[in-house]
Amino acid sequence: MKSKKENNRRFYSLNDYFKETIGEKIYKVSLDGGFTCPNRDGSISSGGCIFCSDAGSGEFAGNKIKSITEQIDEQLLFLGKKIGEGKVIAYFQNFTNTYGNVEYLEKIYYEALKHPRVLGLAIGTRPDCLQEDIVKLLERINNNYLLWIELGLQSSNEEVAKKINRGYPYSVYKEASKNLKYKNIKFVTHMIIGLPNEDNESIIKTANDIVESGAWGIKIHSLHIIKETKMEAIYKIKPFKIFTLEEYVNIVVDILKILPPKMVVHRVTGDGKKDEVLEPIWSLNKRKVLNEIEKELKKREEY
Ligand code: SF4
Repeated sequence: MKSKKENNRRFYSLNDYFKETIGEKIYKVSLDGGFTCPNRDGSISSGGCIFCSDAGSGEFAGNKIKSITEQIDEQLLFLGKKIGEGKVIAYFQNFTNTYGNVEYLEKIYYEALKHPRVLGLAIGTRPDCLQEDIVKLLERINNNYLLWIELGLQSSNEEVAKKINRGYPYSVYKEASKNLKYKNIKFVTHMIIGLPNEDNESIIKTANDIVESGAWGIKIHSLHIIKETKMEAIYKIKPFKIFTLEEYVNIVVDILKILPPKMVVHRVTGDGKKDEVLEPIWSLNKRKVLNEIEKELKKREEY
């Protein structure tokens, strides 16, 4: 792998990874496997993480009434000319995509993998939903296909995790990440910048903890206060600090600085729907956020 400086790239993005390993840009199709989440169905809590919407943090996923194959076809149609005959990653995105019995999981994962345009899987889940039989299934898939798991950590700070009602302690993430690493299964850890009462020091610690856990990739999201979530209700009663664009850009660049050159950066900001995001409004202009991050990296001469 060329260094980021040789590539003239300021961080190693998922596009860079695919260009290097497959030789072309690979798109993702977001699927709804019909799951729920133990943090919403009463097993852990019925409230869910306070930022989570009714769509289970998967606003752009397919329609669960349709089969996996139909959802893939529909999304390929939507991508249209942009993708041509290219392959895609089937991304099981919303809710907890390993929260089910192993036979059902096997059925839907392989249905996706059998699609002629699917190159591999990305599976979003919680670290407390990776029981032994499920990890065995993931290992089998991993031996034959491209696979990565996405873990919604958001913060390694226990107090912040309690505030957002994440429903598991950091030790559970540590254990799950250790196990995945041992089994050679790639994982991508999500973190959110701007959670209530989390300061910059704690955010940087989270990034360092993700690096230390051996994550293959990282997704950095700006906090979105989505309408009709618990977080919106809390914010309306007692507003908490919302990062400005400048503050967000600065902390993202601080995080990018500490990531190892081989860590794949899947995201540096979130995707939100205009009519659903209450705050921060600047985050809806994704192009601008990305440009500002690039500008700051350039100003600091960071690669
Ligand atoms: S773990 Fe994911 S799906 Fe479950 S409540 Fe939290 S954000 Fe929503």
